[in-house]
Amino acid sequence: MLKLENISLNYGSFRALNGINIHAEEGELVVLLGANGAGKSSIFLTTSGLHRAATGSIRFGSRELVGMKPSHIVEQGVVQCPEGRKLFPAMSVAKNLMLGGYVHRRDRKGVNKTLDEVYEMFPILHEKREAMAGSLSGGQQQMVAIGRALMSRPKALLLDEPSLGLAPLVVKQMFETIAKINKAGTTVLLAEQNAYAALRIANRAYVIEGGRIVMEGSRDELLNNEAVRKAYIGA
Ligand code: ATP
Repeated sequence: MLKLENISLNYGSFRALNGINIHAEEGELVVLLGANGAGKSSIFLTTSGLHRAATGSIRFGSRELVGMKPSHIVEQGVVQCPEGRKLFPAMSVAKNLMLGGYVHRRDRKGVNKTLDEVYEMFPILHEKREAMAGSLSGGQQQMVAIGRALMSRPKALLLDEPSLGLAPLVVKQMFETIAKINKAGTTVLLAEQNAYAALRIANRAYVIEGGRIVMEGSRDELLNNEAVRKAYIGA
């Protein structure tokens, strides 16, 4: 369904991604593991069309995403929820969410229906819908960021470090929510440093080091792999 083939990316003379091959089938939850600077965000930014790959192709269904405008990629159903949330802190929760449906959805009724679904998924956001996004807790702000992505009705959702900076109990709830979104039918690509929690809800995973894929396998293969346990799980 989503297939990156031989993707390379340069930042000036620095090669950040080198021959990346990743695929996610419809309904899968695929995790990208890797330390800071490994290239996870670069993979997502390239898939979203915010960076232009130097080599390779990214197919989503029958469409080629390399060279497509970011807004068209969202229209195809490939939607990124960026690292660090990138909310508008001085705007209300409701307005932040509505921005997710703004780019390509003209049907107001449909947008309102999706908003109701987002509020159903995150009841606290309904309660706080008139509050400034910046006044919410870290976990609630992450819910807004995910909710905003859901407003575009993604077929494939790219989640970049959603657990970053959250308290352990909130992290647990965040992973439960991601599993729920996936079970409801959305394909999920999840970049995480929280390897154990991410693998537990994953079907498959890739390990990225220095802009290359160094390992891939099923959840159980990676959970039981000694090198992965040492480097990323610490047990
Ligand atoms: P993190 O979780 O810290 O974001 P990451 O795995 O997502 O890590 P990337 O952000 O994709 O890693 O970064 C990959 C490499 O590219 C790093 O060495 C980083 O310093 C470099 N890099 C990222 N963005 C740029 C940029 N705009 N210009 C130059 N180098 C960059």
